[in-house]
Amino acid sequence: MNLLTDPWIPIQEKGLFEKITLQQLHCGEKTGEICLPRDDMELACLQLLCAITQVLFTPKNKRELGHYVKQPLAQDDYQTAIQGKLDWFDLDHPETPFMQFRGVKAKEATPMDKLMAGLSGGENKVFVNEMGLADNLCSGCVAIALFNSANNCPNVGGGNLGGFKAGLRGSTPITLLIQGRNLRETIWLNVLTEETLNRVMPWYDETKDMPPNYIKPVKAREKISVSEIGLARGLLWQPARYELFSSNKLDVCSCCGLKETVYDGFKKEQFGYTIEGVWPHPLSSRTFSIKKKKEEFPSFTTTAPTWTHMSRLLIDRQSDKEGQQAAPIIQQARTFIASAKLQIIIGGYRNNQATILERRHELFSLAQGWHEHGEVIQQIIHYGLEYKKALRKALYLFAVGIKDKVHGSGVNLCDPVEANYYQQTEGLLHTRFASVHFEQPDKDLTQLKQQLKTVVKKLFDLATEPYQQEPKMIKALAMARRSLHKSLKDLEPQGEPHDKN
Ligand SMILES: [Zn+2]
Repeated sequence: MNLLTDPWIPIQEKGLFEKITLQQLHCGEKTGEICLPRDDMELACLQLLCAITQVLFTPKNKRELGHYVKQPLAQDDYQTAIQGKLDWFDLDHPETPFMQFRGVKAKEATPMDKLMAGLSGGENKVFVNEMGLADNLCSGCVAIALFNSANNCPNVGGGNLGGFKAGLRGSTPITLLIQGRNLRETIWLNVLTEETLNRVMPWYDETKDMPPNYIKPVKAREKISVSEIGLARGLLWQPARYELFSSNKLDVCSCCGLKETVYDGFKKEQFGYTIEGVWPHPLSSRTFSIKKKKEEFPSFTTTAPTWTHMSRLLIDRQSDKEGQQAAPIIQQARTFIASAKLQIIIGGYRNNQATILERRHELFSLAQGWHEHGEVIQQIIHYGLEYKKALRKALYLFAVGIKDKVHGSGVNLCDPVEANYYQQTEGLLHTRFASVHFEQPDKDLTQLKQQLKTVVKKLFDLATEPYQQEPKMIKALAMARRSLHKSLKDLEPQGEPHDKN
């Protein structure tokens, strides 16, 4: 199966599911949205489509990119672009199969479910995935799974596969993608121009013709500087030595459900090397500590919702101690789609070492003006977090009291109420990002604060209601309430109207 010529892209339009070729998609012959039973596989499919498109067509500048966004490709142009690249994308190539290596030494094949993130190992597997989702995978789904494990997962599939390297972005990076009006447009909006690349990857020009590492492998124990990794090589980097295995039987694919020749396992082999530095991935923001000289890709490490991460994903900032830089694709969008609202897809896994605890795939809208007013985005997040803090503080006081003065209730409601707060305010935050008047945000921010305040008061009352009649807790409760009122008042600058109840 060749990703450049065969139908492997799972799409749905008007209820009809089918697999189409990349040429059909790019030439506008077929339309539809990516459709697979798992949202992480859908996201990985989109990432793979963007990576292939970036490798085949890197527009010179904004004008050329704009042309690609607007106009489907001519068939001849597509055919010209894939010449010379067909060997890179052939899943069954006799010498250089897509994202695999020939001659992997393993006594037995590993079952296919280990290639699907989070499916095996770990206690949450039933929660995260349906059972039996990956006994057999068709060629399209297995290509997506290979790409996903190489780019987005902690050392592959979890369980007992320790010792295998994670991808260039570390084990569970957050991925950002810009969403367009349809799939074809979405793909192009996530392709970087040479202009952008020369800025974010100073070694772009001299390394751009480097083939992927499964075509031209690194040596065992080699030390590789990121400046030796070209664009295509980095986008298609395979960190582990894998080789797919198929007994050539016709069966139902456990992911997409179509009946095809399936792959039923893969061989794996440990392989060590060292990457020095951090490769500037187009779809990832980066944070760095200047003091510790450490640079990394943000990931979801707690249950805090995705909006709490928006600042470090979208805004560039630098102090003398630390800094953050938005994903190159966002940096490019600031000049490319500045006059419109921005829709971004944010996705990634949350893990505990090799075990996936949670996966996210969310869509955010940002109102027009987003590119110039990072401070407003920060303010929205700030208030979202400050109102939560006020609530937690009050509930904490209710639990522990004040030493030698007020006896605490001993009932700690902080965590469950925080989870509730995040749930109840999620929609408010989304709406605010999508509708805020970035030029003149005061009215919107005041309204947001009022809304958050209402939620906080309601949640506090609800949580403490069962204890209101407990004589031993009355003092602690009164003190907690006073603390809450004070914190809420402090969040409103002098002269700002606030309700009296
Ligand atoms: Zn499939």
